[in-house]
Amino acid sequence: MTIDCHVHFISDNRDEGSFVSHQFKKSLTYRVLANQLGVDIRMSEADQEHTFLNVLRRQLYQSKFVNYAVLLALDATYNEQGEFLPNRTPIKTSNKTVMRLAHDYPEFLPGISIHPYREDAIDKLEELAEAGAVLCKWVPNTQNINGMAAKCQRFYRALVKHQLPLLTHCGREHTLPTVNQRLGDPTLMQVALESGVKVILAHGGSSTLQDAIPTVNATFQLMDRFPNCYADLSALLAVGRLSVLRYWLARPEYHSRLLFGTDYPVPMSLQQVLFGMDYRVSQLINSQNSYFDKYFLTLWALGFQEGVFNNALAVLGPTTQQWLQVEPKPTFLPSKALRMQRADSDVTL
Ligand SMILES: [Zn+2]
Repeated sequence: MTIDCHVHFISDNRDEGSFVSHQFKKSLTYRVLANQLGVDIRMSEADQEHTFLNVLRRQLYQSKFVNYAVLLALDATYNEQGEFLPNRTPIKTSNKTVMRLAHDYPEFLPGISIHPYREDAIDKLEELAEAGAVLCKWVPNTQNINGMAAKCQRFYRALVKHQLPLLTHCGREHTLPTVNQRLGDPTLMQVALESGVKVILAHGGSSTLQDAIPTVNATFQLMDRFPNCYADLSALLAVGRLSVLRYWLARPEYHSRLLFGTDYPVPMSLQQVLFGMDYRVSQLINSQNSYFDKYFLTLWALGFQEGVFNNALAVLGPTTQQWLQVEPKPTFLPSKALRMQRADSDVTL
């Protein structure tokens, strides 16, 4: 069974505490994303959310390979004193919104987000863990979270108590405005790992561009030291991270710690990835209707083994089982003959 552990949702449902800031709405990033998803930014807030939801559900419904998506909340930005910073918060997707959607639609699992500097952080975590959260998500660069800060420690203890993994963004953040890019350094998760938290480093634990390979090496070192350290494959089909994908492919000894994740709706650079690949394979991938199947089949064709697509279930929180209602899709995988042989391929990522 394949669970996509990294799917974003954007909502402006202010009654539930979600919002997209007026400033972010005017940004090119938001306009491009909205356009790609068929959202007209002149629509009412409710209609925008409805469209966003329908497009996502259709992509999942059409998917032949991906059964579930962990829908990620995103908490606001706070300062070191635990004060909410509205002007530094581009979007907030509230825990209420993702919990509602997980209850309403069987293909979603709730991925909550709680800023650890909030005064009520532990109470919130207790409450949402009881309510069935399957992981907690941070984007430290945007939310202003330093994983080494002393005030994170009580939060780590609560995560361990509820066996909830922490999915954290790694590297520079390009989609959302940031407070401090250095907070995306995966080595800042060391205290969390020492405390026993299952940490999932997003984007293969990589940064982009010239920092990419050193940060993946740092991730491998963390994995050597901590059996509770994992990574996901999200956004690795985006143009700035293709070298990271190639680097991960060459290190199968770490693939048992790798989880399938896409970073939907972040666009993928499919043409660059497929360039030089066997024509039949690239045609098969291009002909898929679903974003999730394009992502899945590309990783499959590149040579990631079946386990990578099934690892999430064992890593997500213990409440995951209670959400699983959808009949698993029949285990259909494309023939191994279609799989590109890395050894004889001259594909350049
Ligand atoms: Zn993401």
